Amino acid sequence: MRGLDASEEPRGPSGWRARLRPKPAHPRVTGEIALGNARRLAVVAPLAGVVNLMVIAIFAVHTPDGAVEAAWRTGVMGSHAVMLVLMAATLALARRATQAAGSVRLARATQWLGLGSILAGGLVITAFDQATTTAITPFILACVVIGLVVILPVPRTVAVFTAAAAAFAATMLAAQPDPTQALSNSVNGAVAAVVGLMLGLLRWQGEVGRLEQAEQIARQQSELERRNIELRRLLDHDALTGLLSRRALAVVFDLELARCRRDRAPLCLLLLDLDHFKAVNDRYGHPAGDAVLVEAATLLREHVRASDGLARWGGEEFLVVLSGTDLPTGLDRAEALRRSVAEHRFEIDGGLTMSVGVALVDTASRDPFAEAYRRADHALYNAKRGGRNRTVLAKAGPSVRPWTVTPPDAPPVA
Ligand code: GH3
Ligand code: MG
Ligand code: MG
Repeated sequence: MRGLDASEEPRGPSGWRARLRPKPAHPRVTGEIALGNARRLAVVAPLAGVVNLMVIAIFAVHTPDGAVEAAWRTGVMGSHAVMLVLMAATLALARRATQAAGSVRLARATQWLGLGSILAGGLVITAFDQATTTAITPFILACVVIGLVVILPVPRTVAVFTAAAAAFAATMLAAQPDPTQALSNSVNGAVAAVVGLMLGLLRWQGEVGRLEQAEQIARQQSELERRNIELRRLLDHDALTGLLSRRALAVVFDLELARCRRDRAPLCLLLLDLDHFKAVNDRYGHPAGDAVLVEAATLLREHVRASDGLARWGGEEFLVVLSGTDLPTGLDRAEALRRSVAEHRFEIDGGLTMSVGVALVDTASRDPFAEAYRRADHALYNAKRGGRNRTVLAKAGPSVRPWTVTPPDAPPVA
């Protein structure tokens, strides 16, 4: 199965260059990663804000010892205060970006605001620290946090950490009075940037792989669902006539039975069989016989309601479930079906007839379908024996009141 839709795949060089160069991630994947960055920043920004507040609080109660320390205190407190504001802005933007379906544009703005604030904060605070200490902890922490939290494509990750290392070296040269210490700090800062770079690259690789795999699984699932629907359609319908299969009719019968039981409504079962169908095959061949079956099925479909269950039961046998239908109405409907076939001129340039057995379903029976089917089959057998091209009513089931309505041309009761 293809990884991505060819029409949406970003274009790139072909041949050996394509193999050497890492495949560019799909825009949907990079968008999803940007949204992930915003989601992570929505967690990291308030935590960083708490750290900013803690540092401001600690420095607020600290009494500086001399002018240098006072300047250091003011610088660190000021940069933490600025960072606090930036973290609040990052959080607000991250929330908006990840609301509802999410906005990739806002997520990208969030990731750059968060990344810029944290790295610049680490850099500036480390610069102020150089007045009293040689530590570069804020910058190291900033590199690690960005490497873990803000996932960017490879060229951007490289650019961000290269720029951070260069800016850090320049800052150290300016802020650290001891040149040897400035050099040492610059080297350590570069190592911190490399660690951040490695984390960023690993996170990018893992995230792209995970998202592309998830996308592939989602595609396979929807393909599987489509095939399942197709399979169900095949299982539920007869391949030749398109009518319901036995399996589907059993489901329809159970549903209609439950409805009729609930509404205390009658339910009829019709078993229909084309007369002397074997002769059609013998005379015109099986393909012509098939065409006749399709024609007969079309006729029957036109004469039943959409709510009725109409199935191809066997070779040239059909079964109809008529819900909310009593025996007199069932008889009328069966006769209408029988007449539609008898009056139709089939493609084979001939007439064809059909016999029908009608049974009122005994809804109180233990197995209403089997019981009604047995009686409808018996009625059909009697229709055949009685000369074919006729409808015969089955005797009522054991727990059904005997049928008393007698139409003028009442057919025999089997
Ligand atoms: P009766 O009036 O007693 O029902 O006679 P009949 O010839 O219709 O019944 P019989 O059971 O003797 O023959 C049914 C024929 O239906 C035999 C079989 O070849 C044919 N048949 C069953 N399924 C198909 C099918 O899918 N296509 C075709 N062309 N014929 C089929
Ligand atoms: Mg038959
Ligand atoms: Mg037949």
